[in-house]
Amino acid sequence: MKESYLSRLSNISEFLSIIIIILGTIFLIGWAFNVPIFKSPNPFFSTIKSNAALCFVFIGISIWLLQTKRINKSNIMIAKILAVIIIIIGLLTLIEHLTDFNFGIDQILFTELPGALNTSSPNRLAFITAINLVLIGSAILVLDKNINVGWPLFQILIIIEGLMVFLTALGYAYNASNLYIVYHYTGASIYSVLTTGLIFFAVIFIRPDKGFIGILLDKYPGSALGRKLLPVLIIIPIMLGWLTLLGQENGLYDSNQGYAILVFSTAIAITTLLWISIISINKSEKHLERHYNVSHGMNEILRGTIVFKSEKDVVLKCLEVAKKITSSNYGFLGEIIGGRLTDLALIHPEMESDEAHELVVGMEIAGYWGRTIKEERSQIVNDPDSEPDKRGVPEGHSPINSFLGVPLKQGDQIIGMIGLANKEGGYNIEDQEAVEALSFVFVEAIMSFRARNELKETVAELKSSNEELRSFAFITSHDLQEPLRTIASYAQLIKRRYKGQLDKDADEFIDFMVGGASRMKDMIQGLLDYSRVGTRGEEFKEFDAIKSLNNALLSLQSSIEENNAKITYDKLPNIVADENQISRVFQNLIGNAIKFKKHDEPPKIHISAEKRYNEYVFSVRDNSIGIEKEYIDQIFEVFKRLHTIDQYEGAGIGLAIVKRIIKRHNGHVWVESEYGKGSTFYFTIPEAHKSLK
Ligand code: ADP
Repeated sequence: MKESYLSRLSNISEFLSIIIIILGTIFLIGWAFNVPIFKSPNPFFSTIKSNAALCFVFIGISIWLLQTKRINKSNIMIAKILAVIIIIIGLLTLIEHLTDFNFGIDQILFTELPGALNTSSPNRLAFITAINLVLIGSAILVLDKNINVGWPLFQILIIIEGLMVFLTALGYAYNASNLYIVYHYTGASIYSVLTTGLIFFAVIFIRPDKGFIGILLDKYPGSALGRKLLPVLIIIPIMLGWLTLLGQENGLYDSNQGYAILVFSTAIAITTLLWISIISINKSEKHLERHYNVSHGMNEILRGTIVFKSEKDVVLKCLEVAKKITSSNYGFLGEIIGGRLTDLALIHPEMESDEAHELVVGMEIAGYWGRTIKEERSQIVNDPDSEPDKRGVPEGHSPINSFLGVPLKQGDQIIGMIGLANKEGGYNIEDQEAVEALSFVFVEAIMSFRARNELKETVAELKSSNEELRSFAFITSHDLQEPLRTIASYAQLIKRRYKGQLDKDADEFIDFMVGGASRMKDMIQGLLDYSRVGTRGEEFKEFDAIKSLNNALLSLQSSIEENNAKITYDKLPNIVADENQISRVFQNLIGNAIKFKKHDEPPKIHISAEKRYNEYVFSVRDNSIGIEKEYIDQIFEVFKRLHTIDQYEGAGIGLAIVKRIIKRHNGHVWVESEYGKGSTFYFTIPEAHKSLK
């Protein structure tokens, strides 16, 4: 809306600038060809002076050039040169008036005979007009594209100019010549009063988005009120004054009575305007208050969903908010279940909520309130007595004398309704809109409360089934060891005792059996270790990570020597963790780095750690065979291996254990690798760690 005002006012400014140029030109033509009507309306009014006419043309051009859409460096330059000329003419004329000195500028364009009406020296422009020219010229001088710097000055100059024009115009309107003729200096002609008036509007509308015009155009209620009141406030006193004067001149009353009538009528007019303002401001304040209450209510409800223990508390909070905003006595919130309305809560002034609840269990969806659901839209019923169908209002319920029903929707589907009743004076559309706005929050609050509860239950269930699984894995792997051990040792026994005594095939089969049993032993041991990570972990304590690393290197010593592995490491930080488990992590990672070495290169492994924000990032870098990109995500899974047992031995559970241990420490583990070049395994340990289970 403001935009349309802005462009309209800018257009007015430009249009006025053209009118001003035309008027100035007409006045000059009046002088050039001596056309009396172009100089003053009739001989009883003083003439507009030729210098004033020239200045008006200059002012019109400047305002035209300074329109925002047209502004550029050269236009500003021309406008400012013209402004300086205007100021000089104004100032020189003022000096002439005040000192009686004659610069000879008055008659420079055209000459006027001595003795012209209200003219102190022939063709000398009016004292007031000269001041106005200085003011307007200065205002134009400080105006640029954005007028950020000169803006306050610009406003002051142009307001003073406007007030002076207003006063001189009143002088003409009320026939008070002292207002347009100052002392014995040349009086302002009616033409120049009119033109300077137009100039005032052309100049203040030139940048309508700024300053007091900008304030007046704002979207807020104060500005809207101002836009309506300002013209009325200016016009009413003028009209009243003028009417009083008219009555006085026609002899209806004398001047004392005239004053009394003027004061009386002005007081009435201003009081009426004040009253309109009070009502209008109150209306918008009430509107605002309602919005505030609605959003405050929403806030309370959403906060409630986090704090409240039961769903009923959430629903009661919703009802309480709706009841308060609409000043209702009864509140009811129900959900459609099996074609009937089951209340989630009911607020009844004379009953406890449990007792009230009994009233409305499984209500039939009928009567005027049932329409809320059937017609899927809000209902206001302020005279329920006239409703033919009163079914549905439960027996024992106090009489209802006004009712507001709003459907509760989840997506497109109606899931229930909120009913409010017995607001004194009945409900209005604003009540309805407020409850409609709230209804979405009600649904959201109730549903998210339910969802959160369901989630809690699911998490609890998951936890217990996880627990069961863990103990299952532990028990089975533990118990499987025993028969396996028997199979393995008897297979060994057969191998030892009967090798070479049976045929070649039998020897091979026995080898397979022994190998399979031993692999299975490794796998079961791995599973056991894996399931123990959570259950057999130790308390976290602070220690130097180098201790864990040294432990790991110690247990890998023979493999390191065998493979001629070169292991280097940086200074490692103190961490809060399970020392044995961190050793295990290093052992698995370094063990793999050695195991998956290239055939033609001895393993080179470097361990380091750095602090990133609130955690330590450890890395184990190797020059191994590397991992193909597509398998990178799989290697941390249980029994996932990328090679056959003939190529590299192992149970495929080492990295799964690493992942589980790091997870227990609230950290992350990942790998970056380039196939054929090597891999770097990373894991993080949070800086200060509270003990976890
Ligand atoms: P295992 O080492 O017993 O096979 P892991 O869980 O420790 O089982 O590793 C899974 C797989 O990840 C390995 O089979 C191997 O293919 C790959 N891998 C692990 N560490 C490295 C490494 N440092 N360089 C190359 N590949 C690796």
